[in-house]
Amino acid sequence: MHKGYNLGLEWIGFARWIVGARAVGAAERLLQMAIDYAKERETFGKPIAERQAIQWMIADSAVEIEAAKWLVLNAAFTLDQGEDNRHYASIAKLYGSNMGNRVIDRVLQIHGGMGYTRELPIERWYREARLWRIYDGTDEIQRLIISRNLLKGHIKIGQTF
Ligand SMILES: Cc1cc2nc3c(=O)[nH]c(=O)nc-3n(C[C@H](O)[C@H](O)[C@H](O)COP(=O)(O)OP(=O)(O)OC[C@H]3O[C@@H](n4cnc5c(N)ncnc54)[C@H](O)[C@@H]3O)c2cc1C
Repeated sequence: MHKGYNLGLEWIGFARWIVGARAVGAAERLLQMAIDYAKERETFGKPIAERQAIQWMIADSAVEIEAAKWLVLNAAFTLDQGEDNRHYASIAKLYGSNMGNRVIDRVLQIHGGMGYTRELPIERWYREARLWRIYDGTDEIQRLIISRNLLKGHIKIGQTF
């Protein structure tokens, strides 16, 4: 009895990597939209996919999605092993949710004005993604948890779990 708050906190701590997983899924889908659009949309005589500025946004997004995916898998794997995964869950949540915001921002940029309209789902994802940095513990709280674990020696640099 009367242990619901502690139970809730515990659950959130172990499971917040799920926000990172959500960000990875959305970012993958949206990046594919940007790739398809970049090959189709022509300006000044050729598809924008042939412009290096666009190619770099695609490449940076792909790299960040891959990194977030591995952080999410690591947090899930650690939990699956019956270990305390909270440090890794915070890392996956912090990086994943910020990655999602950066990728969706680039996807909107690649779509130009169309990306900003409600004809496409990108502007809705742009707003949704902003929430990922707030709920299940804000960016600041994840940083507080991660740095506290290291400063207090609960986790050592280079430690896996
Ligand atoms: C759409 C939506 C859905 C939500 N769903 C749920 C839900 O299902 N369940 C649930 O329990 N909650 C839910 N929340 C609440 C969410 O978890 C809180 O909004 C979040 O934890 C931040 O709390 P707050 O809004 O009171 O901001 P505050 O705690 O007032 O924070 C304001 C700012 O100060 C910073 N800050 C606060 N304390 C510190 C500190 N110690 N050190 C450094 N910076 C600090 C924060 O990071 C933030 O930037 C939801 C919120 C939204 C917007």
